[in-house]
Amino acid sequence: MALRLLVLGPPGAGKGTQALRIARDHGVPKISTGDMLRDAVTSGSPLGALVKETVAKGQLVSDDVIVELVRVRLEEDDAQHGFVLDGFPRTVAQAKALDVLLAGTPLAVVEIRVPDEELVRRVRGRRICERCGTTVSAFDGDPALAQECKTCGGRLVQRSDDSETVVRDRLKVYWRETQPMIGFYENRPTFRRVDGSVAPVDVYAAIAAAVAAVSAER
Ligand code: ADP
Repeated sequence: MALRLLVLGPPGAGKGTQALRIARDHGVPKISTGDMLRDAVTSGSPLGALVKETVAKGQLVSDDVIVELVRVRLEEDDAQHGFVLDGFPRTVAQAKALDVLLAGTPLAVVEIRVPDEELVRRVRGRRICERCGTTVSAFDGDPALAQECKTCGGRLVQRSDDSETVVRDRLKVYWRETQPMIGFYENRPTFRRVDGSVAPVDVYAAIAAAVAAVSAER
């Protein structure tokens, strides 16, 4: 059955990694608003110019801009048989707009929970590949060696919004704007919460189990 899944959680919870894996397993696209915005900034498009400063500061891009970006993306062919959304919605207004866009199509929702201090530690240690966008953890091995992407050989760099001060601001934004949005979903029968502080394979197993349970209920 088509998978339509939202992966929710704070920065550093592992949303991107888990969303990519589950999307590949189901043959659907992973749609990340963070990746789309970073691509826009890198390409220097009008959207990139509009959002550049907001993203650098770790603040939220306006709901109108984000909802329009997602609306257009969800109309593309590859999203017609399912998708995994990562980083959207982030506010109650975005969640309500998504309900309108989906017009009743069933949606599974998984929240990944991780304590704040662990999030700061992870985000400070993460690097992304300049070329293909793959995220790696410097804690996976010797940080001094983690300079080259294992997927494509590109250079690994720190995201400009992953510095400790910006991460702490992003967490504040998360608790203020995004946590209330979780309340919008948590009483739905298709909502599940998983512990993101365990090993990535175990987080993945928990998400896969949650998705299977939600699909079985429908
Ligand atoms: P993370 O989950 O690690 O915080 P993302 O890659 O999802 O990072 O997002 C990076 C930045 O892009 C956010 O800090 C914010 O500025 C912007 N952004 C991404 N998605 C949204 C969204 N749905 N609404 C508003 N801003 C967003």
